[in-house]
Amino acid sequence: MINSKIISELESIVSKKFVSDKPEVTYLYHYDFVTAEPEGKCDIVIMPDSAEQIQEIVKIANKYKIPLVPWVSGINFGSIATPRKGGILVDLRRLNRVLEVNEDDMYAVVEGGITWADLQGYLEKNHPNLRAGITWSPPGTGVVPACLCYGMFDLGMIGGTGAEFINGLEVVLGSGELIRAGSCSLSNYWYGRQPLPDLSGLFIGWEGTTGIVTKAAIKLWPKLPYREDFTGITLKMDDGFPVLLKLSKVGLGISDILSVNLGWVQSWQGLNEKNAVQDAIAENMPDFISYITTQAYSEKQHEAQCDAIRDIGTKGGLRIMSSEDGVEAAQSPPLLAWGCWNFSRGGGGQWIGSYCSTREVVKFYNLSRKICLKYGKSPQFYSRIMFGGHYVVARSNINFNKNDPKEIENARKILSEIHDEVHNLEGVVMYKPPLWALEYNKNKTFPATTKLINNIKKLLDPNNLMNPGQGIGDN
Ligand SMILES: Cc1cc2nc3c(=O)[nH]c(=O)nc-3n(C[C@H](O)[C@H](O)[C@H](O)COP(=O)(O)OP(=O)(O)OC[C@H]3O[C@@H](n4cnc5c(N)ncnc54)[C@H](O)[C@@H]3O)c2cc1C
Repeated sequence: MINSKIISELESIVSKKFVSDKPEVTYLYHYDFVTAEPEGKCDIVIMPDSAEQIQEIVKIANKYKIPLVPWVSGINFGSIATPRKGGILVDLRRLNRVLEVNEDDMYAVVEGGITWADLQGYLEKNHPNLRAGITWSPPGTGVVPACLCYGMFDLGMIGGTGAEFINGLEVVLGSGELIRAGSCSLSNYWYGRQPLPDLSGLFIGWEGTTGIVTKAAIKLWPKLPYREDFTGITLKMDDGFPVLLKLSKVGLGISDILSVNLGWVQSWQGLNEKNAVQDAIAENMPDFISYITTQAYSEKQHEAQCDAIRDIGTKGGLRIMSSEDGVEAAQSPPLLAWGCWNFSRGGGGQWIGSYCSTREVVKFYNLSRKICLKYGKSPQFYSRIMFGGHYVVARSNINFNKNDPKEIENARKILSEIHDEVHNLEGVVMYKPPLWALEYNKNKTFPATTKLINNIKKLLDPNNLMNPGQGIGDN
């Protein structure tokens, strides 16, 4: 499909150094690092350094009708950056600059390929009073894709999903045009998406199938001097979750509320499943473990907030602990999270997850728990309460040895069974779904909405070249 003429046209845009069709290079992009989804191979990789270069690349793709896949690190869990239909993989990692930080309006304008390490490092050095939300993903993963794909940060209670952290975008459409969305479309300020038609939504939740984001304004937050991390535990999710929900709705400077089950914690600890407790409830061990982070401006405010959290938690039946009790709580999960897919267990991990109503979380957990136990697997569950208690994330994870076909098959079976049960719960909507689960989202959607989605896709990507085989639109 890609001949020497096309290769030299691509080389003339970015120079020879930043184009490769060598198998040892294209191989690096052919699968999602941690998942065991079906693979896909690109024909050529290109690394542009500007929006103009991306426009040129998109024009060539349209001229020769070649698929295009935007990519930052490809570690997204759903294999949504895997080049399913070959073509040109656009590795955006040279576009890793912070272009502006507006301290007053608290945002950073960044390029589309910036990583968490780039952004965090820049802020710590140049704007130590401000911080970005932090994911648990490795530092080399992308900021912009995390926001576009509704990622979750440690400020989810204040800011919502990553998508809500986006103030505005600059995008090269699938047609090659460069557009801006948000206040930046008519001013030099990138303070927000209000009050114009919210065109950022044309690129959020689309998994790179409508355009390539070249710049984004990301909300930043003040770093407050006082912080405490609480752990609250009890035997069952059924008893613990309502207490968290109450805490989420009373303010108290809470920036993050997370709950996991014992299986997830054991996985953090790197325990091999053979050495782990499989059914915490049967063993009468606490199966509900939560992390609550609060922050404050003054000592007095901090003390009052901490007292209220202890009070509400304890009265609700949680055993509450914090650094005052010698328990360092939520500081270390980002590092521990990588242990879940450690190589001694074969490095494989896959989850099925959703955004859902706060009413459905416990049902989600209990259904997935039952299925995992049926297959002799330790259930692993994770949930975060978002945006002041307006909605939640709920998801189940399976670890496996990705070199063992039997384990992979078993993991897929379990995840697909969990999916079939939980997606029938009202208000549970799967996110970053792997290919096999995406069809359910498509089939469930209101038909006229699906039609509109497909029309938008055609408008923005008329030749259907952007990340084909992925996303909600018809491709
Ligand atoms: C151990 C571990 C923990 C994790 N924890 C978290 C977590 O706490 N929170 C969280 O949100 N995620 C988490 N993740 C998931 C994931 O790593 C992040 O969401 C990550 O930031 C996505 O970046 P990426 O570079 O992998 O994206 P990619 O896989 O490169 O891209 C993801 C999607 O976005 C598209 N895309 C990429 N760049 C652009 C662009 N500029 N314009 C348009 N489309 C684009 C791609 O085509 C693809 O569809 C975790 C992953 C791991 C391995």
